[in-house]
Amino acid sequence: MTSQLGDVSPSTRKFIETPHRVLINGDWVRPAGADSAPIFDPSTGECVGEYASVDESATTDAIAAARASFESGAWREQTPAARAKMLWHIADLIEANARELAELESIDGGKPFGSAFGGEIPAAAEAFRYHAGWCTKIGGTTFRPSIGGLDLEGSTRLEPIGVAGLITPWNGPLVMAAWKLAPALAAGCSVVLKPAENTPLTTLRLGELICEAGLPAGVVNIVTGGGATVGAAICRDPQVDKISFTGSTQTAKLIIEDSRRNLKRLSLELGGKSPVFIFDDANIDDAIDGAAGGIFSNAGQVCVAGSRILVHQSIFTRVVEGLCAKAQSLRIGRSMDPATEMGPLISAGHRNLVDGFVKQGVRDGAFVAAGGKMVEGPGYFYQPTVMINAPYSSCVWTDEIFGPVAVVASFTDEAQAISMANDSRYGLAASVWTNDTNRAQRASRAIRAGIVWINCHGIPDMAMPIGGYKQSGWGREHGWSGVEAYLESKSVMQRIIQP
Ligand code: ADP
Repeated sequence: MTSQLGDVSPSTRKFIETPHRVLINGDWVRPAGADSAPIFDPSTGECVGEYASVDESATTDAIAAARASFESGAWREQTPAARAKMLWHIADLIEANARELAELESIDGGKPFGSAFGGEIPAAAEAFRYHAGWCTKIGGTTFRPSIGGLDLEGSTRLEPIGVAGLITPWNGPLVMAAWKLAPALAAGCSVVLKPAENTPLTTLRLGELICEAGLPAGVVNIVTGGGATVGAAICRDPQVDKISFTGSTQTAKLIIEDSRRNLKRLSLELGGKSPVFIFDDANIDDAIDGAAGGIFSNAGQVCVAGSRILVHQSIFTRVVEGLCAKAQSLRIGRSMDPATEMGPLISAGHRNLVDGFVKQGVRDGAFVAAGGKMVEGPGYFYQPTVMINAPYSSCVWTDEIFGPVAVVASFTDEAQAISMANDSRYGLAASVWTNDTNRAQRASRAIRAGIVWINCHGIPDMAMPIGGYKQSGWGREHGWSGVEAYLESKSVMQRIIQP
């Protein structure tokens, strides 16, 4: 096993290897009850560092700091323009440190360096810039009440919801943190942010950049540790008013239970089993490329991955052959290797889960047309996989695998395709590949999912709300809906006293 630490800048290496602390009330501390937890590089399996896995008491301290900063008004009472300037400044610092952040994401999460540097890091900066724009546009309405005999003036005012608990997953650590932090800060909230156990590094570095930007102490607190300890403590604490969570549907159900004590507001961005429809009038080569990108990018560890590919029967063989050719030609490799097109899965345990799904699919009667195996050697690599003939009751057709596994099935007409796609407990995303705009519109109306892409897949935009129907979640992130999720509306009615 050769370490990848020699492939990153000396400053990045130093950051990785320095034992990490947590951010509470503007101070970087190592709380008394914290354990050391290992940080693994999924490309090599090497333990590259360690972070502080804190206990409930440190989490409570972080929440108290957020609460105190919120009550003090140090952030929420700054002018909207001052808040906008601060968010813009954080974006500039992300950009100025893009190489280091991309290297950290690559070592910590197994993300190919090029896609982190060219995609995720600029997207994180963009999240802060986009929300800087909203700071000065958060306003209420005025209305004229209809009650007779009184001179009344009505208005609504939007106020920050309070303390927000932000819980992020490991598949896009920095960008997910930015997607939650930026709207929370734009709204004037104070926060406690908890990254996933597997990927604390970019969130901790972002914390340093936020301190450098000069955000008042206690507005952003970062605690690292287990989901069942730190995460659950955030969800149970009555001092927290809102949770924004991205992760699995299973974990969301636990979060709902813990949050009900004080009826926290919840935003939940969860799992999916998103369909990709390829109609016979599509540009087929384009559709094959797009469908392959939709399932193999980030090794399929994407909530909107296009994991069910539905193909018109007349082009089924051609599409399956095309997908298999793509799967077999993708260059799998270590995340810091510039030639790598697909990196590793996040952990040995997750790779076992993915492999377990594929094996169960085969037992259920599915056929592996490409891939289907772990890659020998160090690191947690899995072959890009294409499965066909899966029964619709098989877990490979119904469950979110969160790995590079596409299940392909054929349909005879539009109605059948829609009904196959909607027969799912999930409803996060879908894509439709066709040159017929009427068909594209019909399909986008009929699909029960929060996002539909037409002739593309998986392209996010800060102005485009993202979130799920059914068990894919509650609420939306991005756009005005994403900012609104951190605001309460207050109605004010005044009786005008006549002279
Ligand atoms: P995965 O199973 O793929 O790791 P999860 O949905 O469990 O995905 O994890 C996403 C985030 O939720 C992580 O930060 C994790 O620590 C956190 N988490 C896990 N369990 C809980 C819980 N019971 N309460 C709150 N957060 C949790």
